Amino acid sequence: MTLKEAQYLIKHIELGTLEEKEDTRTAIEKKDNIQRLVLKLIEEFGELAENIRKNARYTGESIKGTIEEEAFDIFYYIIAIANEYDIELEKVFLMKDKLNQEKYKREFSLEEAREMYKKVK
Ligand SMILES: [Mg+2]
Repeated sequence: MTLKEAQYLIKHIELGTLEEKEDTRTAIEKKDNIQRLVLKLIEEFGELAENIRKNARYTGESIKGTIEEEAFDIFYYIIAIANEYDIELEKVFLMKDKLNQEKYKREFSLEEAREMYKKVK
């Protein structure tokens, strides 16, 4: 799954339909929703902290109450927030990675990592 696909899926989960609907919310409704998403994100960080403290890992049964579940939940809300601002995360990822590569003087690029990934996978 690509980030683009994840953004599409989560956009439609939030809309409650696979239909392409025009966003008819007022600016206040949209802002309220963003605040709700940020509060949910913070809540999920708390759940992740608890599960890390308990070292609650997925063992092949249920994902409920595990670090894996909360990592997903955090990912979900970050995507949902990006969607509210029409942020294309794949583009931002590339731009930010370039900045980070320079900032931290990393010797390999994202493209090199992708090539290596293809070889080892
Ligand atoms: Mg959770």
